[in-house]
Amino acid sequence: MNRNEIYEELKRIVNPEYVKIDEPLKNHLYTQLGGKADFFVMPTTFEEVQEVVKFTNKIGIRHTLLGNGSNLIIKDGGIRGVVMNLKHLNAIKSEGDTLIAGSGARIIDASKHALEESLSGLEFACGIPGTVGGALYMNAGAYGGEIKDVLDYAYVVDKEGNLVKRLAKDLDLDYRTSNIPENGDIVVEATFNLKPSDYDDIKALVDDLTHRRESKQPLEYPSCGSVFKRPPGFFAGKLIQDSKLQGTNIGGAEVSTKHAGFIVNKDHATTTDYISVIEHVQKTVKEKFGVELEREVRIIGEDKE
Ligand SMILES: Cc1cc2nc3c(=O)[nH]c(=O)nc-3n(C[C@H](O)[C@H](O)[C@H](O)COP(=O)(O)OP(=O)(O)OC[C@H]3O[C@@H](n4cnc5c(N)ncnc54)[C@H](O)[C@@H]3O)c2cc1C
Repeated sequence: MNRNEIYEELKRIVNPEYVKIDEPLKNHLYTQLGGKADFFVMPTTFEEVQEVVKFTNKIGIRHTLLGNGSNLIIKDGGIRGVVMNLKHLNAIKSEGDTLIAGSGARIIDASKHALEESLSGLEFACGIPGTVGGALYMNAGAYGGEIKDVLDYAYVVDKEGNLVKRLAKDLDLDYRTSNIPENGDIVVEATFNLKPSDYDDIKALVDDLTHRRESKQPLEYPSCGSVFKRPPGFFAGKLIQDSKLQGTNIGGAEVSTKHAGFIVNKDHATTTDYISVIEHVQKTVKEKFGVELEREVRIIGEDKE
């Protein structure tokens, strides 16, 4: 199939308004960096997601999921095949003590909805800028809470295009990881088990966590949050700080002077600059302290030719 035939078929599957060619991915990423997607689609139903998967399988091209782009670095050469964004699957509702959210809903909005319903459990997520799907994929967490504590089950579209229910215990949720990538699942909806609580108590906790986040994180610049996982027995930020790396700048990508665990796009950096800073930090910390810093942020896509 040639490019135009693929484009036409995708427009048959998904509302044509939500199918694009050569979409600049930097418009969808927190770092505001990265190349283009050959095809970019935004399905509005589970069935459309299933059909896109079956179609890409049939013609042998890849599909890649993009949530809110808050934990992704996409290389300057962009992504071949179809990039799928589920931001139209964003309904949130509660039934008794459970909260059900579409995978494209922001986890911040799920946390707000829980507050409005006086349901406790998602306070930790009040400042995490990802989608529900991205949060499950990463087992996102903060201030002692994580998705694993509250997820009951999720609906996913598996790599064959089937809609399947997966219980939380079957997703191998662990520190900033799950088996979603390994299985090639696409999360389309998540159900959380929460606890009825006092609105004012939930609100007080949310306000406290928001204040702590805003005072410590360089939210004034584009970034992808904490770049590295916490190495056992250490704090990544402290190791980077003690290595005197804050302020290190390559082509506009800089180790934040406010929070050493963040690398910010301070001045029109490219993905290549950003990755160079990451590698420089890893090398320096290894030399000074003998500690390997493992990336939390995911790097995908092709190098620029
Ligand atoms: C300022 C800032 C603060 C942050 N603070 C925190 C924090 O406190 N705690 C924390 O854990 N993280 C934090 N993060 C990182 C990030 O917000 C989380 O990892 C979040 O869960 C990523 O969600 P996303 O929708 O942005 O995913 P993306 O970055 O778009 O994607 C991440 C991965 O998930 C996959 N994916 C996305 N959606 C789906 C889906 N529906 N199905 C299957 N795979 C999918 C993508 O393919 C990709 O591999 C922060 C980031 C920033 C920029």
